Amino acid sequence: MSKNKRERVNANLLGKNEEIFRCPLCSGPMKLVHFKSLICKNHHCYDLSRQGYVNMLPHGLQTKYQRRMFEARRMISRKGFFEPLMAKISGLIIQQSKSPSGRIKILDAGCGEGSLLSGIQEKIAQNSALDPLGVGLDISKEGIYMAAKEYSNSIWCVGDLAKAPLASQQFDFILNILTPANYAEFCRMLAPHGRLIKVLPEKDYLKELRNIFYERTNKQIYSSHNTLNIFKSKFKLLGLERLRYRVTLDEPWMEPLIQMTPLSWGTTEERRIKALKMDLREVTIDLTVLVGAN
Ligand SMILES: [Zn+2]
Repeated sequence: MSKNKRERVNANLLGKNEEIFRCPLCSGPMKLVHFKSLICKNHHCYDLSRQGYVNMLPHGLQTKYQRRMFEARRMISRKGFFEPLMAKISGLIIQQSKSPSGRIKILDAGCGEGSLLSGIQEKIAQNSALDPLGVGLDISKEGIYMAAKEYSNSIWCVGDLAKAPLASQQFDFILNILTPANYAEFCRMLAPHGRLIKVLPEKDYLKELRNIFYERTNKQIYSSHNTLNIFKSKFKLLGLERLRYRVTLDEPWMEPLIQMTPLSWGTTEERRIKALKMDLREVTIDLTVLVGAN
């Protein structure tokens, strides 16, 4: 698909589904005007970008996520790093859908550069009669820009999850993958029969990197216990599955791998350089997938 066409497809998809949005300032419904702006009845106006995404973030909010991190994540993702995770989530969605066919709405809350949502949607469409509409929300403009440029099968929106610019009780599934949650907003946005699927890292997630970065520091031992307890206090836990696999690195992946992971934020330059020089050939992915209901 040509670049211009993809951008138009994004705007068209958004226009056909304008009811999914709500104004982040006054919570009013939004209308797409001239395929150019989403406008509420109080005239709060959010323009579509050239790439067809919409920025609904109040001015002044900054994020520490950077373009390079998203580029690294996409590169890693393209190498099949998250294939088993995408297969697991799409399988859960197919299994948990209340009917075997028809439209389902999936929100990826904290979608980053969008490769996971797009891949999950593709797998659902391939393996079932469901017709998934994906909505990717992220506070990072860089992430959403990259998503909208690449993937035309979803709606992409820059917004703050703490005050999500999306209507209430409409999503059949909300995904929250390796990124912070906002349970009050998840409750509000989930349809009555809806499911929250949250993925969190377990103690051996990228342990090969963790061992180098956090050798002899208290950050080395990670526990998902608190996250699980918070989840259980907000949502009814319907399922919990551990997903563990190893990925073989066939070429020097260390740089994007280090870029991709927020684990590296707290490390020293010396340890980063040490990690870059290591001939690491396998890394461990260790995750828990939680399914919850309101
Ligand atoms: Zn408004």
